Amino acid sequence: MAYRDQERQLFKTELDLIQQAGIFKEERIIHTPQDSEIGVVFPAGSSRKPVINMCSNNYLGLSSHPEVVEAAHIGLDQRGYGMSSVRFICGTQDIHKQLENKLTEFLGTEDTILFPSCMDANAGVFEALLNEEDVMIADRLVHASIVDGMRLAKAQTDTFKHSDMKHLEKKLQLHQDKRLKVIITDGAFSMDGDLAKLDQIVELAEKHHALVCVDDSHATGFIGKTRRGTHEHFNVMGKIDIITTTLGKALGGASGGCVSGRREIVEMCRQKARPYLFSNTIAPVIVYAANQVMDIISSTTEKRDKLGKNTSFWRRGLSKAGFIIKEGETPIVPVMLFNARLSQDFAIDLYDEGIYAIGFFFPVVPRGQARIRTQISASHQMSHLEKALDAFIKVGKKYDILNKTKQDVIDIYGD
Ligand SMILES: *Cc1c(COP(=O)(O)O)cnc(C)c1O
Repeated sequence: MAYRDQERQLFKTELDLIQQAGIFKEERIIHTPQDSEIGVVFPAGSSRKPVINMCSNNYLGLSSHPEVVEAAHIGLDQRGYGMSSVRFICGTQDIHKQLENKLTEFLGTEDTILFPSCMDANAGVFEALLNEEDVMIADRLVHASIVDGMRLAKAQTDTFKHSDMKHLEKKLQLHQDKRLKVIITDGAFSMDGDLAKLDQIVELAEKHHALVCVDDSHATGFIGKTRRGTHEHFNVMGKIDIITTTLGKALGGASGGCVSGRREIVEMCRQKARPYLFSNTIAPVIVYAANQVMDIISSTTEKRDKLGKNTSFWRRGLSKAGFIIKEGETPIVPVMLFNARLSQDFAIDLYDEGIYAIGFFFPVVPRGQARIRTQISASHQMSHLEKALDAFIKVGKKYDILNKTKQDVIDIYGD
């Protein structure tokens, strides 16, 4: 047995350091289905408390939608529980192909391959496509799963400053002699809620013969005129070579991800992407439900329209109350507090008021940019948002941060 006191102490010391730095993450245990109102037990041992959920990725309110749950039941009855196989051995059913086809049609691409998660899609796609003669050029704020996917690939890596098109062009010029150049970005950035400048990125890609890869996890299903994603919003459908996205957010929120795009690229993933080849297939119950989700969002914009209304109410309300928010149009609305401790204290006070939101600080966001990230859902009722707004204002007054400049707040709390 090699796990002696010595080894135990090693990890304990590191965990203590995390605790002392005030960045120890504790799970808040939810005792209800995912929804706009949830029952939470926190801290451990306390009694269950009903709170309004302002931090889920359940953008369209489909996580517990009756039609989606019903479809999952049917899937369970008709196809059982598990597949006990990866896709290429005996883990592909007609329903998996159906879901891939629905995603292809919805995203306006040539083909789609499902992965166990979008994290796996990003982990697999670059390694499958690229070699040492190639380069990946990523926005500096891309999601951690893209960073990991780039680490796993043999191609060279480079980055450009967040949404800085001049810098991107410089990098494209620098790497002009490479076999393949791939520009990689999130479509909607998860921490700031801003959109990548996809129209300009596509223009640069065409000029410099680069491929474009967009992770649209925070956009698929609710951004763009008919909610197909950021490529629709910027009018560049058909021009994005690789789209990765998740079923774990707006699209029902269970699990699963995909790579969608050029036919040969998707085929390369089927032949070579390791998470596709070596990790279990998505369970039939999830595939049934996801197929239902695709039917719901393909047939009506009702959910997205409600999300749009909720989002503008929330953005307007916070601004009018005197909070500093990151401007934008997505349902990701960061309320800026700048100081890490303040973001934690603020979240605790909100929780006391029955509002569930989480404070983010370094290293999740840059130093001095601590915030409460709020996320709006189509399942929020106006009464939820009014109550949440009242609570934000009450806590904002307590900390005296309303109608203040960034510098005012930093003068009081530090950054
Ligand atoms: C959430 C997210 C992922 C991970 O998706 P999973 O399917 O949960 O693995 C990947 N990329 C981005 C941009 C995300 O926001």
